[in-house]
Amino acid sequence: MTTTTTFPLAFSTTPSQAARDEAEREEILADPGFGKHFTDHMVQITWTVDGGWHDAEVVPYGPITLDPAASVLHYAQEIFEGLKAYRHADGSIWSFRPEANALRLQRSAERLALPQLSTEDFIESLRQLIAVDRSWVPSAHETSLYLRPFMYASESFLGVRSAHKVDYRVIASPAGTYFTGGIRPLSIWLSTDYTRAGRGGLGAAKTGGNYAASLLPQEEAYRNGCAQVLFLDSDEGKYIEELGGMNVFLVRHDGTLITPELRGTILEGITRESVIRLAKDRGHAVEERPISVQEWRDGVASGEITEVFACGTAAVITPIGVLKSRDFEIGDASAEPGALTMSLREELTDIQYGRKPDRHGWLTQLG
Ligand SMILES: *Cc1c(COP(=O)(O)O)cnc(C)c1O
Repeated sequence: MTTTTTFPLAFSTTPSQAARDEAEREEILADPGFGKHFTDHMVQITWTVDGGWHDAEVVPYGPITLDPAASVLHYAQEIFEGLKAYRHADGSIWSFRPEANALRLQRSAERLALPQLSTEDFIESLRQLIAVDRSWVPSAHETSLYLRPFMYASESFLGVRSAHKVDYRVIASPAGTYFTGGIRPLSIWLSTDYTRAGRGGLGAAKTGGNYAASLLPQEEAYRNGCAQVLFLDSDEGKYIEELGGMNVFLVRHDGTLITPELRGTILEGITRESVIRLAKDRGHAVEERPISVQEWRDGVASGEITEVFACGTAAVITPIGVLKSRDFEIGDASAEPGALTMSLREELTDIQYGRKPDRHGWLTQLG
């Protein structure tokens, strides 16, 4: 096997001839929503079994050509990441723990039999995109540029084996304040008919298939007036796992945080890990262990559980007000967000936006 991979990769840039002008961009940035608008460029790097990673480029944003036999379209060999670029008050642009995203992409790649991209090349791919699209990083309060690196099997082959050609891309999408009109506790739907991941499956990998599995229960949640789905373990249907794209914490009246332990069926959220660190720094006990729905129900009823929240990069930390299922409903939709929930949220966003010292070395400058 010959390899032409240079390490680290050298990027070339082809500027877009169709870049939006400042007026168009400012109009989008004034109300970007989430995941609707994309910047003028994207990153692409190609991997082949013989050549390794090569052809690292920043190119104009645009459609991807895929052969109809590209194996990702048939067998879903695909993984992704999600992180944000934050503009600080001095105009500089930072991301939060991107090496943790790089490592998770490597773990997801291993599980999906995809090639690993080095941490260095991953972070450089983000820097390269920011270098051409930095004006797309908004500056209004709690806005950011959401970065979406992803990797997929692009080989044209219908045989079932890991692909011999793979593409990595990064696209970027300006993101507005997640909560317009203030932070309100969510109502979430307990899925009892469907699970998200089983033992030995893909639950710990950030892969599109897990999201595909969550869409039907998500529809069920909407029909029942809920914003998100809570999944239970697939073995016993007894222990809480996570939401479709967020991890979950309960807060006990003594300030102890409780969150489901990582057992291969739960995505290892970087926000989850950061919340655990910040809570421990403040002297809170944190328990990572199985939590049954019964414990949640009883705890809310007795006053033992005082707050519940979900966390993930997109919404940071979101209070959960109500857990609803076919048989019961617990919590209070009109309750105020919990005090610890909100203060952890504030501390985390203060670090991300450079308003508080970065005492854990979590920030990496992108531009
Ligand atoms: C991405 C993701 C999360 C949150 O992870 P963060 O690193 O905190 O953004 C939680 N659950 C699932 C299923 C996810 O895909």
